[in-house]
Amino acid sequence: MGFISPPIRQTLELAELAVVTVILRVIHLSYSHRHRSRPLGTLLLTRGPVLRHARHMTVELYAVTCGHLTIPSAFLLSKTKGWITVPVPAYVMIHPKGRVVFDSGMHLRTQTDALGYFGEEGLKYNQPIFEPGEEIAARLKALSIAPEQITHLVNSHLHYDHAGGNAQLPNAEIVLQQREWDHAMALPDNDIAYHKADFDTGQSLRKLSGEHDLFGDGTVVCIPTYGHTPGHQSLRVQTAHGEFVLCGDACYLKQSLDNLHLPGVVADKEAALAVFHRFREMQARGSRIMFGHDPDFWRTIPQAPTRLA
Ligand SMILES: [Zn+2]
Repeated sequence: MGFISPPIRQTLELAELAVVTVILRVIHLSYSHRHRSRPLGTLLLTRGPVLRHARHMTVELYAVTCGHLTIPSAFLLSKTKGWITVPVPAYVMIHPKGRVVFDSGMHLRTQTDALGYFGEEGLKYNQPIFEPGEEIAARLKALSIAPEQITHLVNSHLHYDHAGGNAQLPNAEIVLQQREWDHAMALPDNDIAYHKADFDTGQSLRKLSGEHDLFGDGTVVCIPTYGHTPGHQSLRVQTAHGEFVLCGDACYLKQSLDNLHLPGVVADKEAALAVFHRFREMQARGSRIMFGHDPDFWRTIPQAPTRLA
């Protein structure tokens, strides 16, 4: 996977920093020579190439698995038979302006009272394997982050395996698409996939309409990927080791993308297929596609505290 061990990476980063410092010093000297009255800050704000360099920010990206689910294979790949056990992933990003979680896994109640949470019919098709210590709040301990320190929680969508842990991050602003919120809130209380106990928590909401750059520097960008649900979004993350696309449920498995194999359960097939094509284009440009529920793929993904990128 090309992961660089922390000491080597640190050395590289220090070397990069030293090079940038020298470049800035040279620019400063030559600039001061020509424009003695204007400070360097003005230069950074007014000169295009230098400005772009200064804005080339990255974040640290970590992956965690918050339990597993056993579901019918046809949920993930239409017209297939049998059952599949899949991971329930979440991600943590560390940025100078905040600590971000992408998707929060399942509700704590599914650890102790799955029948009460899902109901008999729901539990037939959604069997959680979710032990205490696997929830998002506990997973953050690997990074020495308290749940209260998470500033933003981006929900790909509001299904129970993506928004069930929202309340565990009490100070996070929830970032989601307006149309996902509207769709979820309009459903009856007994919906199998959407549980209001997960997301109608009173936490503050940032409701988006389309693409949104979370910190205004291109590091963490919500991209609408409607199709799986009416308001699904994915996350484009700029790391020091390249761009990652956190699919959420817009692309479950590697084979979904390789074969353009749609799931059996999808709100808008045409839109979902268009998203697959968009992911293929991003992949061709060098982005790493992080598949939403692929058990084979996730076995290869380092977990926090090991840095993914
Ligand atoms: Zn899911």
